[in-house]
Amino acid sequence: MSEDVELALRSRRVVTPEGVRAATVTVADGTITAVLPYEAGVLAVELGDDALLPGLVDTHVHVNDPGRAEWEGFWTATRAAAAGGITTLVDMPLNSLPPTTTVDHLRIKKEAAQGRTHVDVGFWGGALPGNVKDLRPLHEAGVFGFKAFLSPSGVDEFPHLDQAQLGASLGEIAEFDGLLIVHAEDPAHLTDAPAGPAYAGFLASRPHAAETDAIARLLRQARRLNARVHILHLSSAAALPLIAAARADGVRVTVETCPHYLTLSAEEVPDGASEFKCCPPIREAANRDLLWQALADGTIDCVVTDHSPSTADLKTPDFATAWGGISGLQLSLPAIWTEARARGHQLTDVTRWMSARTAALAGLDRKGAIAPGRDADFAVLAPEGTFTVDPARLHHRNPVTAYAGKTLHGVVKSTWLRGQRVYSEGEFTDPKGRLLTRDG
Ligand SMILES: [Zn+2]
Repeated sequence: MSEDVELALRSRRVVTPEGVRAATVTVADGTITAVLPYEAGVLAVELGDDALLPGLVDTHVHVNDPGRAEWEGFWTATRAAAAGGITTLVDMPLNSLPPTTTVDHLRIKKEAAQGRTHVDVGFWGGALPGNVKDLRPLHEAGVFGFKAFLSPSGVDEFPHLDQAQLGASLGEIAEFDGLLIVHAEDPAHLTDAPAGPAYAGFLASRPHAAETDAIARLLRQARRLNARVHILHLSSAAALPLIAAARADGVRVTVETCPHYLTLSAEEVPDGASEFKCCPPIREAANRDLLWQALADGTIDCVVTDHSPSTADLKTPDFATAWGGISGLQLSLPAIWTEARARGHQLTDVTRWMSARTAALAGLDRKGAIAPGRDADFAVLAPEGTFTVDPARLHHRNPVTAYAGKTLHGVVKSTWLRGQRVYSEGEFTDPKGRLLTRDG
């Protein structure tokens, strides 16, 4: 055993980019140094049949801190992340006050996060009408890219872009080859949901055409400006052919979807159950099957939570007025694994969607794989273990979840950040997360 090995973990199921195999993973200075044979003769933490996964990278999380920390905060969100096997999250620029739309606001955000994160945290900036001048300074200050809405965001301080404003922001971002990530619903197709507890009315108020038209326009702008764009939380499978065609034609576009679109369906939403409300909406089971096909064939790149909580009182039984957002941080891995295994996918697929490709999206070269030179970020998962979701056992701030009562496969037993065990069987260490910037 070489002297600079300070830690080794061995498992019969190490999930590497090349496949699942029995191996010993050695770590020094928080970095993976080697992936050795299982019988390497190194003193190692023995994981047996528990799988060793690269820590997940969740690039779509609304922490809401500062300003709406009663909805969610850095302490609680990053505990939920750690308990869910997520070792890196990238925070969305809205729902906190102020939103992350200037360098000064980014500084305020970082002050709120500093020393309070149990996993590593990076930040997206925001593209608003009138802040084109702030985009390059934010890019230079280390945000991973910029979020824009093409329809109302749900909070007044984060207005959406019209097509001319989108062109101006995207043109500026293309100048420094940045990334624009887009909530793509076309307001021309959105109507006010009818008041009341029925899900069908809400679903009909946000039709497939809202997504397909917004995405078609975005792709035209990306092509015209040779800009890099990412489509957030794709719900409608109707947009998939457009995306595939644009990509085949050289448009630089990536796409994500979320656990709730892949594991829940419109048919199962009970009356008044606004914990299922999000935008774009959860659609029918047949649409969900097409999203899985697109994940399998690579049209959809990655899976992220879009964890977007509020206080429980805002989740009223009225689909017209309830807050739209689903809390998924702690449950995203078991929710996806449960459905993925039933559909014949492997753990390597899950880590490609939830770790490798999300790390690549954000340019996080040290994250996303169990391989020498990467950060020693791991999730230890009992893939055959099961549990029934009890909202009281979730670590995000407000115990609201669309997964309550579901029995899921995949128990996260421990989570490791740069070689340190930060979560184990319900217990956390002091926060050891770092604040990340683009390029390190
Ligand atoms: Zn979101």
